[in-house]
Amino acid sequence: MVTIEKTLQVVVRSAAWEWMRNEYLPAGPVCPGCGTAITGARALLAFRDCGQVYCAGCGKRFRATFGTPIHETSWQPEEYLQCLILHLAGRSPSTIGAHLGKSGHAVRDMLERIRLRHDPPRPRASSPGMLQHSMGI
Ligand SMILES: [Zn+2]
Repeated sequence: MVTIEKTLQVVVRSAAWEWMRNEYLPAGPVCPGCGTAITGARALLAFRDCGQVYCAGCGKRFRATFGTPIHETSWQPEEYLQCLILHLAGRSPSTIGAHLGKSGHAVRDMLERIRLRHDPPRPRASSPGMLQHSMGI
């Protein structure tokens, strides 16, 4: 039987990281230390490989995952994307955890990061003026 869990074997690191770059970092890497947009050829290659990116502006290195939900976690891009797909398919955190070899707690933590990123709490529109402001009118 074809299942989504079996189908997810096609989610490999390179494709998952490409998806994450397009989704979360479409403008390319920006140094978290000094805010410089990274443009050097070697640094951009490291970014595409999900490695350590060197900033010529301040001389520091940072992980390519900066700005994505997996930054400062041990999650790999392919794990993140499988978690997201299984979540969108309605799987429970414990089911997702069993598929990924992670605890339900770890999955719930990542689902919260996903929720904050994709469905952030919106400011309450308590007056028409605020509503217009939040809509950019
Ligand atoms: Zn920098």
